[in-house]
Amino acid sequence: MPELPEVETVTRTLNIIAAGKTIQSVKVSLPRIIQKPSEPEVFAAALTGHTIEKVERRGKFIRFVLDGLVMVSHLRMEGRYGLFAADDPVEKHTHVRFRFTDGTELRYKDVRQFGTMHLFESGEEFRQPPLVKLGLEPLEDEFTLEALRSRLASRTSKIKPLLLNQEYIVGLGNIYVDEALHSAGIHPETTADRLKPEQWRKLHLSIRATLERAVEAGGSSIKSYVNGQGDPGSFQHQLLVYGRKNEPCPSCGDPIIKTVVGGRGTHYCGACQPLPKARRSAASAPLR
Ligand SMILES: [Zn+2]
Repeated sequence: MPELPEVETVTRTLNIIAAGKTIQSVKVSLPRIIQKPSEPEVFAAALTGHTIEKVERRGKFIRFVLDGLVMVSHLRMEGRYGLFAADDPVEKHTHVRFRFTDGTELRYKDVRQFGTMHLFESGEEFRQPPLVKLGLEPLEDEFTLEALRSRLASRTSKIKPLLLNQEYIVGLGNIYVDEALHSAGIHPETTADRLKPEQWRKLHLSIRATLERAVEAGGSSIKSYVNGQGDPGSFQHQLLVYGRKNEPCPSCGDPIIKTVVGGRGTHYCGACQPLPKARRSAASAPLR
């Protein structure tokens, strides 16, 4: 599933290929992609005649900002956009086509069919699902060390699932959480309330640094991700732990461990990311 760096890359590309274009017609061939309004014909009619002013990202969502309307798109597993000439042959699994007045067409293709689109009046999109409950943007000024700690530090859940929860911080998925925790030297099963001040400081820095480097590299191409112009990202070559089971840790050389945390495949280094010792009060812990 694309995470912040991949969605950011797609968003930037959409700004280049689609902003400034006026929609002449919309064709929906898989109605369930359109979540709001419920009828695809209403969705198509509402967009007709509107111009895409800019394209922005909120968490893992893409916001197409039009004159008076906002379309919120989520790529989920394998959704992707591409710009074509209107008379280009339509590839298989193309579910939504936005025909522009200049003779080009933005096409949404989604092999797994999990992607979604919601249409709102401008400004309404932040008051309703799917954007209403989203948390901090980790690349914005609002993502301070204090903001991170105030949301998570008292929680007794494991740090990895907390970082995956989009209601606290947006944009992180399985790849970048594993990477950020490795950079910060934190075991993914450490409960948030046991992290030391120094670890919070490292985690805050590593989340931002990991995402910034990945955005710079155009995201990671794992499985089928490509940006809107068909170019793969290159950050997969810089990954430290994700997908590197049994390979040497880039910091210490120990083999990377793969386990499951909160139901998600998880990569970490046992030496660089030690689990804090059990609390003395933990009943079964042997006393020395
Ligand atoms: Zn290591």
